[in-house]
Amino acid sequence: MVVSDCIFCRIVAGDAHADIIYSDEQVTAFRDIHPQAKVHILVIPNQHFVSLNDAIEDVPDLPGRLIQAAVEVARRTGIAESGYRVATNTGADARQSVDHLHFHVLGGERLSPRLA
Ligand code: AMP
Ligand code: ZN
Repeated sequence: MVVSDCIFCRIVAGDAHADIIYSDEQVTAFRDIHPQAKVHILVIPNQHFVSLNDAIEDVPDLPGRLIQAAVEVARRTGIAESGYRVATNTGADARQSVDHLHFHVLGGERLSPRLA
């Protein structure tokens, strides 16, 4: 499903610009427009799911596919060995701001010791 007012669906469809690092039939990865680290990539499913809550029953292997793609992105951006963080925000308390499931891949510098 493509959600026409979803910015990430528009990126997958090629209707909005993004600096794409990786893509396959299930997953797209691109640079975050407001990077919170020297390397900050978002890894998303091509299909629209709001969050892990929404995806996990329909496509139980999707989180694994997204993590696999995150590792590939870390390799491609040269941070696999120096280290990186993979995180996903779900819902209001986590301050999820785009309602299309995404994993953040952060690295390229020493990250904050705090997760929250
Ligand atoms: P979250 O707060 O976990 O929902 O993360 C959403 C992320 O999407 C933020 O880090 C934004 O900077 C990023 N973002 C929003 N719009 C775009 C866009 N058009 N291209 C790339 N990243 C975006
Ligand atoms: Zn979407």
